[in-house]
Amino acid sequence: MSQQDSTNNPVGNQAKLTWDEEGRPVSSEFDDVYFSKANGLEETRFVFLQHNYLPERWQTLTNQDHFVIAETGFGTGLNFLAAWQLWQQQAPTEAQLHFISVEMFPVGHSDLQTALALWPELAPLAQQLIDNYPQALTPGFHRLSFDNGRVQLTLIIGEASDSFSQLLASPHPAFEVPQHRVDAWFLDGFAPAKNPDMWSQSLFDLIARLSAPEATAATFTCAGIVKRGLKSAGFTIEKVPGFGRKREMLRAKLSSVYCEPEADSFAEGPFNSPHPAPWWVHKSQPTTQKSAIVIGGGIAGCHSAHALAKRGWQVTLLERHSQLATEGSGNPQGVLYAKLSAKTDNLGDFNLTALQYAQRVYQPYWQAAGSQCGVLQLSEDANSQAALIERLGQQTLQKALVRNLDRQQASEIAGIELLSGGLFFQQAGWLNPAKVCQQLTTHSNINVTTHAEVTSLTYDDGQWQTLNAAGKLLAHAPTVVIATANDALQLPQSNYLPLKPVRGQVSYLTANDTSSQLNTVLCGEGYIAPAHQGQHCLGASFGPKQSKTDLRQQDHGQNLQRLAPLSEPLLQAFQPTPPLQGRASVRATTPDYLPMVGPVSDPQATRERFALLRKNAKASINATIPSLPGLFVNVGHGSRGLCYTPLCSELLASQINGDPPPLGWQSIRALHPSRFLIRDLIRNK
Ligand code: SAM
Repeated sequence: MSQQDSTNNPVGNQAKLTWDEEGRPVSSEFDDVYFSKANGLEETRFVFLQHNYLPERWQTLTNQDHFVIAETGFGTGLNFLAAWQLWQQQAPTEAQLHFISVEMFPVGHSDLQTALALWPELAPLAQQLIDNYPQALTPGFHRLSFDNGRVQLTLIIGEASDSFSQLLASPHPAFEVPQHRVDAWFLDGFAPAKNPDMWSQSLFDLIARLSAPEATAATFTCAGIVKRGLKSAGFTIEKVPGFGRKREMLRAKLSSVYCEPEADSFAEGPFNSPHPAPWWVHKSQPTTQKSAIVIGGGIAGCHSAHALAKRGWQVTLLERHSQLATEGSGNPQGVLYAKLSAKTDNLGDFNLTALQYAQRVYQPYWQAAGSQCGVLQLSEDANSQAALIERLGQQTLQKALVRNLDRQQASEIAGIELLSGGLFFQQAGWLNPAKVCQQLTTHSNINVTTHAEVTSLTYDDGQWQTLNAAGKLLAHAPTVVIATANDALQLPQSNYLPLKPVRGQVSYLTANDTSSQLNTVLCGEGYIAPAHQGQHCLGASFGPKQSKTDLRQQDHGQNLQRLAPLSEPLLQAFQPTPPLQGRASVRATTPDYLPMVGPVSDPQATRERFALLRKNAKASINATIPSLPGLFVNVGHGSRGLCYTPLCSELLASQINGDPPPLGWQSIRALHPSRFLIRDLIRNK
């Protein structure tokens, strides 16, 4: 079975394994073992846990702390599981472990299962890893969350140096230090003689730059290249006896730390650097009070509140209506849907990462709040679909994520005759966003206040005050997240954001014998979901720059017409007599269709600081955007709120809390709420 998993993979860069006589995995690429022939688990504990002093260090942590481990070579995840087990045993119950690991040749699912079955004492943890391991091993970031967020794994699929450099705050030399640096390193590439790339000086230098003061490192090898590399990067090294019959191994401690200059003390002006200006770099405020207000109880606000609450933050969620999810998130059947791209671009790459993250996050929600019935994206453009599949297929086990089906295959899966084939996202489906919101906010750290409409925000003495129209104080906290879609424009602080309303109306259709056969969501220009409680949700009309929510029969007609290119029998099945029932709401979109996630800026000060861009679009100005302390937005999700908001909220919470992000710096820049201020300066607008 595992042989098949390893060798029959014609597409990606999945690890090719063989198994030795004792049933242990051996890499065919590197002709080396993943773990030692003597007890691998014991060796992991000895080399990586003990020689990074983890048992001692974790005993002195407090509930407020987080600890970051980074590893070169995720392999079978044995080191991760051993660290997680020790964390459960030693660390305070509320402290957070972040484990970051890079992997160029990810192990396939069945190989992972076979390899981890060697360690019965890790079985409960191993099973959770297997259940959450990315279905499609696509390059880039995969964030997995365990123990209610107490343990976070960021698996970056890609070459080690490329992957770790994504964790720098920016490639700009003055801003390369990330918010939360690595406390302990597990250096576990294959033996240097077999895999010298994993032990290059540039990688050691990167490791030093990503390290916290007094970071430690441990590795099984004592090769000269490793000793020299670590030393030259600023580590003090020590040779100690190795595990079992191995004579020696290395442990190391950072002795000189890269010092970040004060960002705002930099001279502004042209900076002679090939790197882009680091305008997007955000330095989170060191916070003693983990208390936040989230404004808006739609899907963006509820995910934001949840992501902060699982980090130990006390969150007050303010919602103006009597219940959650009553505006853009109020449709009964929201589709988990992404727009992937055949080319590498910000939007397509973000969609790919966001979809996979959302599919993991929604695992516990499908049963009670929707149906993981799959989503069929039908297209008249077979060429672009094939190009997308080919692109994904070059790098991934794409079948787990999306399959290209011809008309007959698609019709069989849909349970109804279709007019074309399409892309089938089998792990996706539909969810009732209101139920998801309810479940997300049922958390002891979240306090939901309804009938609370924030009309102004004032900042005084390190606290934001949220006030209603009568001037009544609703709540105060040092941190505020604005998650009110287009209504972010009603607050003076965030009204510079170029958000645009798009009206969308859905129609409710009573299910009949034919339509009840529909098994999956169908998407074309619009969508139709399988019947739920005798009713289908069909939508949504698209009314750019419109913000009225009256029901229009004309829009119902449009929704029905959109069934025509999808399925003849379905179109025929519905001959409703007007007036039809439905619901209209308004979504917020952005000029580049990417959401806006991150700190709120001072637009005037930004224009002044970056004024030079008007004259010289290529000027690399050595400064960050001036932002308002503790004020953030999570808006602009258009009609993809279900897909985008889990990842965006995770990113935002990591920025607020100062822990490792679930995305690399290029994506963080692409989502920055003030990117259009910079773009407009460059265009001299
Ligand atoms: N830590 C792993 C475990 O707990 O199972 C074992 C790691 S194994 C010794 C080394 C891993 O490094 C392999 O999975 C290999 O594919 C990966 N690797 C090798 N060269 C790499 C590179 N240049 N970038 C990223 N990963 C690499």
